[in-house]
Amino acid sequence: MSRKISILGSTGSIGTQTLKVVDQFPEKFKIIGLSTRGNIDLLEMQIRKYKPLAAAVLQQEKALELKKRISDVDTIVLIGEEGLKVLAAWTDAEMVVVALVGFSGLEPTLAALKEGKAVALANKEALVVGGELIMSEARSKKTIIPVDSEHSAIFQCLHAGRENEVKKIILTASGGPFLGWGKKELAGVQPSQALKHPNWKMGAKVTIDSATLMNKGFEVIEAHWLFNLEFKKIDVVIHPESIIHSMVEFNDGSIIAQMSLPSMLLPIQFALSYPERWESNFPRLNWEEKHSINFLPPDQKSFPCLNYAYRAGETGGTMPAVLNAANEVAVERFLENRLSFLHIPVVLEEIMNRHSAMLNPSLNDIVKADAWARQETIKILDE
Ligand code: MG
Repeated sequence: MSRKISILGSTGSIGTQTLKVVDQFPEKFKIIGLSTRGNIDLLEMQIRKYKPLAAAVLQQEKALELKKRISDVDTIVLIGEEGLKVLAAWTDAEMVVVALVGFSGLEPTLAALKEGKAVALANKEALVVGGELIMSEARSKKTIIPVDSEHSAIFQCLHAGRENEVKKIILTASGGPFLGWGKKELAGVQPSQALKHPNWKMGAKVTIDSATLMNKGFEVIEAHWLFNLEFKKIDVVIHPESIIHSMVEFNDGSIIAQMSLPSMLLPIQFALSYPERWESNFPRLNWEEKHSINFLPPDQKSFPCLNYAYRAGETGGTMPAVLNAANEVAVERFLENRLSFLHIPVVLEEIMNRHSAMLNPSLNDIVKADAWARQETIKILDE
């Protein structure tokens, strides 16, 4: 029997890799829905290949253009944020892969969970900003399967013991392109340098977040929600080779690690195949060669974003949403060459100082906090 899946964000890095996995097992999947922000050229190709029932396009003009272009195809075109939510909740799909970027992933994720669908979650920001809301929808049903490589690793390692036997989890971080750099060297960093990740090929937003360690910070918050762990039980260690994707330490001191060459295809396939494991032709570690594995503590001085995430996570409520919104604005400015690399954390600290968190926020409170933080960040940047 084939699994009926929708992929939100099918034209992005995770989305296209998800379709690569689907291509390996064409008899195992039926594509129900696909979506894009505005890349209708690629979406059109995907629609003609996979013939989904529906497709959503966030940008209205592009949606209308796509509609014209595919008038010979049966796929229904949905428009804008509302359309994306409709697609997320589309009846026929059993699993929804959320491969959206940033805050935009929150509401579609909630929409899919509310309809009782399994969610393969690649959008960590959804959990950062709305972890409480998402987990209250998901917990009873155990329906979120992490796609983020670290969380997929933890999810796999947790199978080695019971929940109450977990001492802590250790998220590994490659350290990004600027590992070992001090503030002096970081001062003149250009976007093109930050976009060159040593081990992973990813979208622009997450690559910059990896360079600042904000990505790891968000992953700490993501892990807190996914695995129901206090922040003091979540450690981060720099592991430049990206072979160990994360670890779980149990109460007897035993540490279980998940290892593989760095490729998102594996965690994506695991999320799609879970609870089974399927054959793959992904590149494997070659044991004929010498490998070394290193661990070192993160440099909090040069990369303070990691600490800001702990602080936002521990404060809770709307604070992580505010940190995330400010970060989205700051990263955009950095990519446009309008903000220096070292100013990203300065802006984030300032926005957190200006915000008093509201606890137990509703979706509306989160949307408001997000909007406030975006405006306030622009104010700080233009001051
Ligand atoms: Mg990750």
